[in-house]
Amino acid sequence: MKILLNNKDLNEALNNVPNLGFVPTMGSLHKGHLSLIKKSNSQCKKTIVSIFVNPTQFDKKNDYKKYPRNTKRDLSILRKNKVDFLYIPKNSQIYKFKRTKKIEIKEKNKILCAKFRPGHFEGVLDVMDRLVSIIKPSKIYMGEKDLQQLILVKNYLQKKYKSKVVSCRTIRSRKKLALSSRNSLLKKKDIIIASNIIKNLIYLKRDLRSITNIKKFLNIKKIELCNLFNIKIEYLELRNMYNLKISNNLKDSKLFIAYHINKIRLIDNL
Ligand code: AMP
Repeated sequence: MKILLNNKDLNEALNNVPNLGFVPTMGSLHKGHLSLIKKSNSQCKKTIVSIFVNPTQFDKKNDYKKYPRNTKRDLSILRKNKVDFLYIPKNSQIYKFKRTKKIEIKEKNKILCAKFRPGHFEGVLDVMDRLVSIIKPSKIYMGEKDLQQLILVKNYLQKKYKSKVVSCRTIRSRKKLALSSRNSLLKKKDIIIASNIIKNLIYLKRDLRSITNIKKFLNIKKIELCNLFNIKIEYLELRNMYNLKISNNLKDSKLFIAYHINKIRLIDNL
């Protein structure tokens, strides 16, 4: 595995590499990331992984500071998993140029995380635009765990680049909790609570089949879950999985949740 620390080395290494698969990450790798890497390895000739904790997508400074970082462990995981290139840029490599036109999320798209984390997706789109223009991959592998991010990035990139975004299913623990780097910030007892919340949501989604006013029902359930698990829920909504419009039936729909356990923010969709 070639480690690339700056854009000069990256340009030299990637010169004439055809059919390149790209897996963007913020590190603290887990089996969710590995599933993206495996898919890239199976569909592309070479795979490049990036590890970059992007400061501009954090709406809270402290969240950026506290975000788990584990480069040594990441390196050893990547070495074992047939990755051709690892790109670990410094902020200065990515933010060499100032953007002339600010990236803006349309008002109609300010839903779910875009509503609760102002500036977050603007930062995600900005960094993805920069990474793709530097790496020029054929395919980009992203997880459905962050479905809103996947849809926004796909729509943004497809207007500008030939690279195709490939969506990858969510990898979960045996207890159904979606794997996430942020899980490492949770205490053992909170992992158990988070798994119980997901189990609850699986049953809740099944119950939606017989509900006529789903929005109203979910608002009531939201309060119940907050009290039951002593958590703060930002949103609990059933939305169409392709266009993210509010849905009142289960067809092509997913239940989206964002919640805080002991100040750690987790998201999921099922
Ligand atoms: P992150 O390092 O959290 O920014 O995630 C990097 C990529 O991995 C994103 O495309 C995520 O959607 C994806 N990802 C994160 N967790 C999972 C998971 N549990 N299953 C599948 N993909 C995931």
